[in-house]
Amino acid sequence: SSVKSASTPLSPQSVLQEVFGYAAFRGAQSEIVDHATAGGDALVLMPTGGGKSLCYQVPAIVRHRQGRGVAVVVSPLIALMHDQVGALEEAGVHAAFLNSTLTLEETQKIEREMMSGRLVLLYAAPERITTPRFLAQLDSLHERGLLSLFAIDEAHCVSQWGHDFREDYLALNVLHERYEGVPRIALTATADELTRRDIIERLQLQSARIFISSFDRPNIRYAIVEKDNARTQLLRFIGDEHEGEAGVVYCQSRKKVEETADWLVSEGVNALPYHAGLDADVRKKHQDRFLREDGLVMVATIAFGMGIDKPDVRFVAHLDLPKNIESYYQETGRAGRDGLPADAWMTYGLADVVNQRRMIDESPAGEEFKRAQRGKLDALLALAEAHDCRRVRLLAYFGEHSTPCGNCDNCLVPPATWDATESARKALSCIYRFHQNGGQRFGAGHLIDVLRGKATDKVTQYRHQSLSTFGIGADVSEQQWRAVLRQLIALGHVQTEGEYNTLELTPSARQVLRGEVQMLLRQPTDTPKRSRTGRVT
Ligand code: ADP
Ligand code: ZN
Repeated sequence: SSVKSASTPLSPQSVLQEVFGYAAFRGAQSEIVDHATAGGDALVLMPTGGGKSLCYQVPAIVRHRQGRGVAVVVSPLIALMHDQVGALEEAGVHAAFLNSTLTLEETQKIEREMMSGRLVLLYAAPERITTPRFLAQLDSLHERGLLSLFAIDEAHCVSQWGHDFREDYLALNVLHERYEGVPRIALTATADELTRRDIIERLQLQSARIFISSFDRPNIRYAIVEKDNARTQLLRFIGDEHEGEAGVVYCQSRKKVEETADWLVSEGVNALPYHAGLDADVRKKHQDRFLREDGLVMVATIAFGMGIDKPDVRFVAHLDLPKNIESYYQETGRAGRDGLPADAWMTYGLADVVNQRRMIDESPAGEEFKRAQRGKLDALLALAEAHDCRRVRLLAYFGEHSTPCGNCDNCLVPPATWDATESARKALSCIYRFHQNGGQRFGAGHLIDVLRGKATDKVTQYRHQSLSTFGIGADVSEQQWRAVLRQLIALGHVQTEGEYNTLELTPSARQVLRGEVQMLLRQPTDTPKRSRTGRVT
């Protein structure tokens, strides 16, 4: 239609209205579009669903009309390329993608369109862009002034600290030196400081303008509850607050996905499993049903979610701890896309801390990588143990300053705290006594029994009732002891070992034993409930 043929200049605003049919730019879009259209480099940090695509599509269209030729979009996601190109062509914008799914003839046809400068947007995977053949084609376009801009989508893939690292992204730094004067727009929904610095350095974006949109999702209510009986807690949560509504329940393992889905069904919840071990057609069927039908609960591993765009997901529940805050944010962010109230609910317990730590420790990655992963896990644990506003902490992680939100569990029902400094010392000295007393190591259950002075068979067998630490913590509940241990493990004063997760002191335990570390913990509470009217009961 008009965009292909006419040659009068276009303004971003008219492209937005005439090509995309939208009335106004959202948030920072307008500024980003102006900056990129004028030829500036940009780093765009915007949450998923924030509208990143328009930030390069509109400049590409405007610049094409100015006779500046083709915009090249780097994207790792084939499905996304396919969708976007389809939508652009539908809107009358000449766009295409190059990837491994095309035949030779198709590829050659697209290359001709590109080399003539007729194409407005070309999408390609990073591994293609950095081939000598493709670079030679870009050189030719550049010499003729027909290379209008580069958009680098999912730019966090260049960072080795994330789970999406792609070797091919590193080679994209050639774009900077080789195509001087061609603006580059890097975009991502991952905004923590570490990743941001990595993107700037590796993609040579030191002089780019940085646009950070708010990551706040005000309609999502965050709640993190202590794991007691996770399934029962989940059922109560769904029954009390989300009966008959669509939601996602994330579990860590395939087995747990299957078991949880079966169990929910047996309890009368309309649930389906989803994980990478299911046949492709089963997965597709379940996904389609989730998107089409009302009120389905999808029990899934993290394999479910990428590109799922269902607006009325009313809750996301985690039965296991995600890897880090970015994952937590991405996964919970699938709730409430329609802007209506939604819940992000998670149960978490001692075993989660132990498991996640162990997964990092036992991974084959290098020490530096592991250290970064541990740091990220610690930040998530701090969020889970927090007794102040969850949202303030979540946003702070993404570099955003905010004030208490009034829409998270801690704001709604501020938890009481208790001073666990002395209890922490008792727990550590008890672990120390075990070790002194024959070099044996024990797990959390036994430790708590000894502290609480319970004469179990195991206590008798090891004669632990004669330890000086036997019964010194009878005044502290078992639940509180678990919280103390979680915290000690989370802070790295205790580590767990082997199949039985036996406890061991680390060198830093000494600081706690000397009374140098103060520990204020949240008092166990019940989850706040929201009635149908949105009031908290
Ligand atoms: P992201 O890539 O940041 O996840 P998208 O670019 O896919 O987000 O945009 C998310 C949704 O918002 C899309 O359906 C898009 O059409 C819509 N959208 C983006 N910008 C606007 C706007 N200015 N007005 C209306 N809808 C918009
Ligand atoms: Zn809050």
